[in-house]
This record gives sequence, C-alpha cells and structure tokens, in this order.
Amino acid sequence: MARHCQIKHLGFELNVIQSPDTPPGACHWLSIVVPTPAHSNVAQTLSYRSDRPVPAGALVRVPLGRREVLGVVWQNDAPAPVADLLPHIRPVAAVLDALAPLSAEWRKLIDFTARYYQRALGEVALAALPPQLRGLSQAQLARRLNRKTTPAAKASALPADGAAPSPPLPVLTEEQARALRAMAREAGTFLLHGATGSGKTEVYLRASADALAQNPQAQVLVLTPEINLTPQLLARFEARFVPLYGAEAVIAMHSALTPAQRLNSWLAAHTGRARIVLGTRMAVLASMPALALIVVDEEHDPSYKQQEGARYSARDLAVLRGHLAGAKVILGSATPSLESWHQSRPAADGDSGGRYRRLGMPRRVGAAGDGTGWPRVHCVDMNLQPRGTLIAAPLLDAIAQRVARGQQCLLLLNRRGYAPVLQCTDCGWNSACPHCSAFQVFHKADRTLRCHHCALSQPVPRACPECGNTDLGMLGQGTEQLEEHIVRLLGDITRSDGGAARVARIDADATRAQGALQSRMAAMHAGEVDVLVGTQMIAKGHDFRRVTLVAAINPDNALFSSDFRAPERLFALLMQAAGRAGRDAALGAASEMWVQTRQSAHPLLLALRAHDFDGFARHALAERQQAGLPPFVHLALLRAEARTQEAAQDFLRAASDTARAQLAEDAETARLLPRVTFYPAVPMAMPRVAGMERAQMLLESPSRAALQRVLAAWQPILHALRAQHRGIARWAVDVDPLAV
Ligand code: ADP
Ligand code: ZN
Ligand code: ZN
Repeated sequence: MARHCQIKHLGFELNVIQSPDTPPGACHWLSIVVPTPAHSNVAQTLSYRSDRPVPAGALVRVPLGRREVLGVVWQNDAPAPVADLLPHIRPVAAVLDALAPLSAEWRKLIDFTARYYQRALGEVALAALPPQLRGLSQAQLARRLNRKTTPAAKASALPADGAAPSPPLPVLTEEQARALRAMAREAGTFLLHGATGSGKTEVYLRASADALAQNPQAQVLVLTPEINLTPQLLARFEARFVPLYGAEAVIAMHSALTPAQRLNSWLAAHTGRARIVLGTRMAVLASMPALALIVVDEEHDPSYKQQEGARYSARDLAVLRGHLAGAKVILGSATPSLESWHQSRPAADGDSGGRYRRLGMPRRVGAAGDGTGWPRVHCVDMNLQPRGTLIAAPLLDAIAQRVARGQQCLLLLNRRGYAPVLQCTDCGWNSACPHCSAFQVFHKADRTLRCHHCALSQPVPRACPECGNTDLGMLGQGTEQLEEHIVRLLGDITRSDGGAARVARIDADATRAQGALQSRMAAMHAGEVDVLVGTQMIAKGHDFRRVTLVAAINPDNALFSSDFRAPERLFALLMQAAGRAGRDAALGAASEMWVQTRQSAHPLLLALRAHDFDGFARHALAERQQAGLPPFVHLALLRAEARTQEAAQDFLRAASDTARAQLAEDAETARLLPRVTFYPAVPMAMPRVAGMERAQMLLESPSRAALQRVLAAWQPILHALRAQHRGIARWAVDVDPLAV
C-alpha cells in the first residue's frame, strides 16, 4: 500500500506518496524542473528516477505531492541522492518522447533568466511553455503533432500555400545595402538606427531571407512590441516568405492567441516547421532549435519589459540568446534606448567602444530635399495663448487647411477620458479615487468616473457628494474632449468633395470592442478619416501614407516627471509621431509637426526640431553619467505592498539591515558590499493602488556582477523575512527596473 510521508528535500517540504516497490537496480537519477510557486524557496530542481535513460531537455510528467505535473529534465545523469533519501525518490510518470528534447541553449537561456531576474527556475521554465502542454497525454500530443497548424493561428488570411505570386523586390537604397553588407560580414549584435521610413523593415526582411537561405533548418525570431499595433509587420513577413516556404513557415506568437493556437505556434517553432516566429516579448523564450537571427523591432519600446512575475527585458534576453545560439541580433529603432545607444558607441580615445555595432540609416526612402524627409517642427508657445486653450489658433488653422486639401492629421494627447479630474467649485471636493493615490477620470461617453489604476467605476454624481453643489468643474483635458472639441471647431470646414470633416479617435476606450482598433485603423488607411485623435497608440508602427500634419497637444508633463526615463520616452514618442507624417514622398515636402508647449526652449524640443537624435542622446547620456544613472550604473528595486506604508517600509528596512549584517559575515559577499548602495525605503511614485500601500528600496552598483551576487545572496534572507512580516501582501525584486 502506498504510504504518505513528508520529506524535507533541500529545504522544501514535500508531500510524497511513497511507492511500495523499491527502486530497481539499474536506475537513472534525474534532476527535473517542476512548476514551483514564485516565492516558495523550493530547490531549483527535484530528483526523480527512471529505469531507462532520459535525455536532458526531455519533457516529462512527474508526480509532485498528490498531483502529476509537467517537468523538464535539467540534468539526466545526476549523482545518486544520499542513501536515506533514496526510498523517497519517485519515478517519472511519463516521458513525452514524441517531442525532441529542449536544447541546451534553451535551458541555458531559462537558467540565466531565472538567476538574473531572481526567480525560481521552475516558474520561468514552465511559464515559457504553452499552458496546454501541461495537460496533454502522450497520445494527445502525438495527434497534435500530426495536425497542421490551423490557419486561425495566423493574424491575417493568406492565399493558399505558395500560390501568391511574389512581387519584385525593391532595389535596396545605398544605406540599406551598406547595413546588410556589414551584417553579413560580422557576427554579433547590431543596432540599426534608421529614421522612420528609412526602410528598416526591408533590412529585416533581407537579413531574414539570407539567414533562411543559408541553411534549410534556420529559424528567425522577430520581436515586436505589440502585435495589434503593427499588423503590417506580420503581413510583410508573410507576403515575403509564405510564397517561398509555405503558409506554415511564418507564425505569430503572442498573448492574444487562444491556448490551442499558442500550443500550435509553440509546437511549430519547437519542431522547426516554423521558419519565422513573429511575436511579442514572450516569444523570446520560445523553443527554436535552429535560431540563426533575432530581430528586435522598435527596440526602445518599454513593453519589452515584463512587469510581473519574472520581470525580464525581452530585448536584453534577445541579445543574450543571440550569444548563446550563435545567432545574429538586430536591434532596430528610429529612437534607440539610451542603453543600446551607449552599448553601440564607437571606439574613442581611452574607450574601446560598445559591444554592439551601430549602423545608421538617416535617409527616408525616396525622400526629396535634405534626404531626411523630416517634417518641419513648429512649437506653439502656450504661455502666449488664452487660458484654457486646447488647440491654439494657428494650429487649428493649419489643420483646417490640410483637411480642405484632402490630407490627414494626427492629434496626439496622452490622456484618455474626457477630463482627468472633476471638482466642486464650492467646497473643493474632487474625484480622488478612494483606493488609489490618483484621480478618477471623467468619461463622458458613458458618464462615469473611472479610476485607471484600479477597477473602480461609478456614475458621475449629479451634484457634489460633499455639499450638494450642482456646479461641478473639470480640470484638464483628455482625448474624448479633444475629439469633441475638434469636431466643433471644424464644423464649418468642408473638404474638397464638399463633405464635412471626419474625426475619429483611437485609444484604449475607443478600441475596447473586438475589431474596433482594426476597423478604425482601416478607415484611417482608406482615407475615410481626416483627423485622428489618440493616445500613444497612434504614434506606433502604423504607416499612414496621407498624414501630413502631426500635433502633440500637451506633452509638457513628461518634461518634469520624476521618472528619469521620462524625457527619453517623450523624445521617442515625439520622434515616432513625427515619423508618421509625410510618409508619402509626393506629400512629404509639405509635412509638419506641431508641439504645443510652455517650454519651447527646452533642449529636448530643440533637438526634436533639428531632428537630432544624436544630439539628444549625447545630452541625455551626459546627464545620466553625471547623476549616476543607467547605463552607467546598475539598479535593482525591492518592492513591497502592505495595508500601510509603515508595514511595507518596515519590511524593506529589515531586508536592508539583515542583508547588510548577514552579507558582512561572509568574506566573499563582504567584499562586494561596499560596491552596492542600499538606498532608504520610500513610498513608490504612486504610493497607493487598489487599497494597497506600496514602497520600494533601490539598490545601485557600478558593477552588474557585484549587484547580481548580492541579490542572489539576498534571496534566502528575503524569503525568511517575509515569513516574519505577515502584513506584506506582495514583494518582488525588479532587476534593471524601467521606472524607479
Ligand atoms: P521603416 O521600417 O524604417 O519605417 P519601411 O521598411 O517600412 O521603413 O520602409 C518605408 C517604406 O519604403 C515602405 O513602404 C517600404 O515598402 C518602402 N521601401 C523600403 N525599402 C525600399 C527600397 N529599397 N526601395 C523602395 N521602397 C522601399
Ligand atoms: Zn462641494
Ligand atoms: Zn483607483
């Protein structure tokens, strides 16, 4: 009869059901990675036995407590466990040998990710596998493998296999040809700094074509920040490679796929059927056994950083993965991250230069004039405008002229809703969210007050809840209001065909319904919209051919944000937005970007006017160096959430004190301590969200290795402390955090 017993295995309390049969003579000991809770302090791998050899990387089903779970064999000839543990080691339940083992390169990547971002190996490994794989039996898996990828896994419909005639390839520009030659000559990581419209995507396509042609197994991974905002990228890869390699060769991988689609995509990548995987950050951990090239498009985009669980940067992992797999890596952007820019600096006196090779493509394809096709930038000094002006008269005039000529305009406002704050003109009541340190935003469309940080949504009060005053005022403006405003202002403008101006809005609210984003984008592309109002969603990726005017309505907040990356982000946003204008060479010469600001002499705006990314980056990097900020130092954050700030900060303080005391006792870590600064615990920039108080503590070091060693030594201390601080709801370490 089976007997329950509890054993302690490497500090992990394990409920095992002891099997009555003693282990047979010939036994293979396996170290297996199993799904472990994030903060459970479980050993990285658990021991199992098998009476036949199982290769490392094999997927297996193993008993864990009373459950049977999916696991990955990490080491296949592990040393025999100590004698008194032997009887407790359970056999592997099944080996999924219909699937080839996961490669050593993949395991190294997962191992690195777990260690670097301070998470459990099992959590990272299992999160990188499609969830449906967990429940599949050997037979179900075999059926899946025989089935073709369903067309539903694709984001766009395509003509039948190989039937599409391939259009002739464009003749490469000088700059494209030079970049491709450089990439063909060398291995390693390249930073492709190309203006919007300089033909970066064409370079990705050609580099991919080369990689695929060189080896019939080769695979290419293309990462994109948000697949919904860049459907054109997938369409272009499909149009180029489906005729050559068939409809199954190009697949998408992102979190909007159904579980079944995700499994199919993963299997296609793992078996090598997929030659090109185009996906969001999660795809960086996909199994691709013959990876030859990784492209990271819009490499500066913050959405490459995962914000929960293992907080990895897919861009950084792509570079590491390229190194592990011997694959080339192309990081592409018109506005590279300052990290990548610094990492690609050319050698200079006393500096051997960065590890990436920088390749520039400043000219837009087919642009006339100075070759950049860069729109003229106008700054409107809002200090000189009447109070409360939403759109200054000269800007409105310019918009009206464009509309009358049949050209399109983009108006960018990074705030959704109608007004950010509602307030009582009498008693001073305002729409502060009761659960967050934020205001509830007034949404006029459904007459709600909504907090954008927690789920709270309430009907707009008819009168002040405090004093009954019915005269409630609004502070600030959001996209809903901007849309309403521009519709009214353009009321008497007629288009050349005599019709009225057509205004549309794209933001998270307007595109919540299934297909709404696609249909609005399609209307814009079809020229059925004259003025498009939106948040940063409209500044990304889309190639709007007839847009000749782009305006940033109120970008000033970001100039004074406490987040040290805010200027970098604003500059990127404005450059990207400007890049939407004048894509059509025929209209290009006349395109404009307008910026409404109270800071028209700000160096960032001067650099924007001059279309000078290099100048902006030089200035910003000098500031970062002086202030001791990344990329010149390395950061990690410890965050904690509790019912009170005090409880959250107490935990952080204890973590810091205990860490310093314990690390000082060990000669090895004591040596590192002076190289790592522990800053005091402070409330987060937004201290309260959904009723939880949030605090954080910054760690900083000039040495990544020193910081890593200290973080690793810190983990067991944090786990132990967590048990003492019962008030802590959540805690996490964020390595290379985006916002501090
Ligand atoms: P980016 O990705 O840098 O914004 P794209 O690759 O989208 O630029 O190129 C911009 C436009 O120019 C696209 O419509 C593309 O088809 C076109 N294009 C790119 N390279 C060439 C070329 N060598 N000759 C002609 N047109 C090109
Ligand atoms: Zn009131
Ligand atoms: Zn809230």
